[in-house]
Amino acid sequence: MDFRKTEEQELLLESLRTVFERGNFEDYFKECDETHQFPDKAVEALVEAGFSTLGIPEEFGGTSVDILTQVMVAEEAHAQGYPSLCWINYSTEVDDILTFGNEEQREKVLAYALEGRKPFTLGFTEPQAGSDSAAMSTTATKRDGKVYINGHKTFNTSADRAPFMLCVCRSGVNENPYKDFSMYLFPMDSPGVTIEKLDKIGNHMCGTYEVYLDDVECEESDLVGEECKGFYQLMKNFEVERLTLCAANVGMARCAYDEAARYAAQRMQFGKTIGSFQLVQEKIVDMRIKIENMQNMLYKAAWKKDHGESIMVDSSLVKRYTSRAAFEVIDEALQIMGGIGYTNDCRIARLWRDQRVYRIMAGTDEIMVHTAGRALVKEAR
Ligand SMILES: Cc1cc2nc3c(=O)[nH]c(=O)nc-3n(C[C@H](O)[C@H](O)[C@H](O)COP(=O)(O)OP(=O)(O)OC[C@H]3O[C@@H](n4cnc5c(N)ncnc54)[C@H](O)[C@@H]3O)c2cc1C
Repeated sequence: MDFRKTEEQELLLESLRTVFERGNFEDYFKECDETHQFPDKAVEALVEAGFSTLGIPEEFGGTSVDILTQVMVAEEAHAQGYPSLCWINYSTEVDDILTFGNEEQREKVLAYALEGRKPFTLGFTEPQAGSDSAAMSTTATKRDGKVYINGHKTFNTSADRAPFMLCVCRSGVNENPYKDFSMYLFPMDSPGVTIEKLDKIGNHMCGTYEVYLDDVECEESDLVGEECKGFYQLMKNFEVERLTLCAANVGMARCAYDEAARYAAQRMQFGKTIGSFQLVQEKIVDMRIKIENMQNMLYKAAWKKDHGESIMVDSSLVKRYTSRAAFEVIDEALQIMGGIGYTNDCRIARLWRDQRVYRIMAGTDEIMVHTAGRALVKEAR
C-alpha cells in the first residue's frame, strides 16, 4: 500500500490552499452566512484557478482526474473553511447527462458546470416520498406531442440558482414504481414552475426550496435517457456523489479540529493552557483518530471506484461513518472552544449547524444501514 499523494495531487492541493490564502475569505463567508448569500466571490476565484473543470472529460473542456483526486480537493476546500453545499465541482451531474442525455442536453449542462455553476437542481424527494422513493407521485403525461409535468418536489438544493431541474417523474406505464420513473430536464423558468424557500437551521449560503410543478410543458426530447429507466440511471452516480459529500464531512471535521487544537494550545485557565489538561488532550486525540479513520475509509472507497471495483457497500458505510464521526469531531471542537464556540463569531458554530444535515441528505444514517446491512448479511451467508 502506498499512502503518499502523487505529485499532481500535491500540486493541486497546494494551489487550492494558495487560492484560499490569497482570497482570505473567512470574513466574507461569515457575511454570506449572515445574509444568506451564495459565496460567489470565492466561487469565481476557484473557477479562475481551474477547479470547476476537474473530473469533466478533456474532450468536453474539462480536466481528467480520478475520483480520489476529486475527493481530496473537495476535502481540502472544506478544511480551508469553504462552505458546505456550495462546492463548485459538478462532474457527477455532468456524467449523468453525458451518459444518458442527448446532444442538446449535454451542451446545456456542460456550459454551466465548466463555469462552476450548478447546472440543475435534482427533483427527487417529494413530501410523501423521502427515504421511500417508490412513493414519488409527480407525473409526466404525454398529450398532443408534448409532455406535461405535474407534482410537488421538495428540499431542492439551489432551485433559485440552477437553470434546470432534473426531475424524476412517474410515466404511468408500469405497476412497479422503480420501472416507471423517467427523468426530464427542463428550465426552472418554465411556465408552471414556482418555488418557495425553506427556512433551515444551517447551510444558509445555499438555498433549499419547495418546487411546485403545475402542467409544466416539455418536449419529448427533454426526456433524459430511456423512458422508465430514470431510477436506475440516477443510481449510476449516487455512490460517487456520496463520496463527494463524505469529502465535505472530512474537510469540515479537519477545519474544526485545526481551530480547536490551536485554541487549546493558547487558551489559559488555572494558569495553564487548556491543552495541558488531559481531559482536553483526550478530546484532541479522539478527534484526530476519527479524522484519520474517515480519511482512510474515504480514500480507500475512492481508490476502489477508480480501479473498477464495486463500492455499493463501501459508499453506504463511508456515508454513515463520516457523517456521524464528523459531527462528533465538530461537536467536541465546539466544546473545547467553550462559550466562544457557541457564538456566531466562531467558525465552528457554522460548521456545527451546517454539517448536521449530512446525516439526513442523500440517504439518512438509517437508510445507510438498510443498504449496507442487507448486503453484509447476505455476504456472511
Ligand atoms: C439541506 C437538504 C438538501 C437536500 N437536497 C435535495 C435535493 O437537492 N434534491 C432532492 O431530491 N432531495 C434533497 N434533499 C432531501 C433528502 O435527500 C431527504 O431529506 C432524505 O432522503 C430523507 O427523506 P425525508 O426527509 O423525507 O425523511 P424520511 O424518509 O421521512 O425519514 C424520517 C426518519 O425516518 C427514518 N426512516 C425512514 N425509513 C426508514 C426505514 N426503512 N428504516 C429505518 N428508518 C427509516 C429516516 O432515517 C429518518 O430518520 C435534501 C435534504 C436536505 C435537508
